[in-house]
Amino acid sequence: MTQRHAHTDGPPEGHRDGSTEGHRGGPGASRPSYGSPADAPYDAPDGSPEDLSRVSPDDSLYRDAWRELVATARRTARDGLVVGTSGNVSLRVGDTVLVTPSGVPYDRLGPADAVAVDLAGRQVTGTLKPTSELPLHLAVHREGRSGTEAVVHTHAVHATAVSTLVTELPLVHYTAAALGGPVRVAPYALYGSDELARHTLDALRDRTGCLLRNHGTVTCGATLDQAYDRTAQLEWMCRVWLAARSVPGLEPSLISAGQLREVSEKLAGYGPQG
Ligand SMILES: [Zn+2]
Repeated sequence: MTQRHAHTDGPPEGHRDGSTEGHRGGPGASRPSYGSPADAPYDAPDGSPEDLSRVSPDDSLYRDAWRELVATARRTARDGLVVGTSGNVSLRVGDTVLVTPSGVPYDRLGPADAVAVDLAGRQVTGTLKPTSELPLHLAVHREGRSGTEAVVHTHAVHATAVSTLVTELPLVHYTAAALGGPVRVAPYALYGSDELARHTLDALRDRTGCLLRNHGTVTCGATLDQAYDRTAQLEWMCRVWLAARSVPGLEPSLISAGQLREVSEKLAGYGPQG
């Protein structure tokens, strides 16, 4: 890569060293992460108490969801799927969507940093700015597909590399069935744009994951763990394909659409067993 990717959700340097630079959590910035979740106050958006009524900080479901979301975001960084504050994660809870904030290192996020928007994108909780890829996350959540409560977006290295080479990830491994079929590459569009959100929706049709050209990955799932696992599987498949095609003079063999269908049926529990 000769040029730095333009998209970050904050300072490209990441500030993952524990400094408070780049963190806009105000008084909460110095609080240890999850030191005392039950006691940690939530920041009222614009000082308007009624804004908090839709997602009460006393709601344990909501609190647990935020904790899980932060854990997933941290995992993407720890596992090398994102660098610094790039990438983002969202989880739908009822008519509310919890999202990672823009520009805050994940290891600095605590219970007081929860950010939530409604399906129209209006912020209902938190003072931190939602991720710049909010349109993409909302587009997926608004579709309301069953089994899609969580969305994970990363800039995983091998997946991003593949996104620059093909319009669809070749069927190099049967794991593609777990993503609904051959993984498409959404055409390039500016990060954070509605156009990118539209391209992503198109690429995700009948799929649970896609690549974004010259950008990264998007996967969804019924849970954050499932969405995360699909990202990891997608990155792994891209790595396999890059490794196989890098052998001079040889082309990777691919599985057929019929063979993939056979895998899908088996995964669904009604194909041939054994
Ligand atoms: Zn991105």
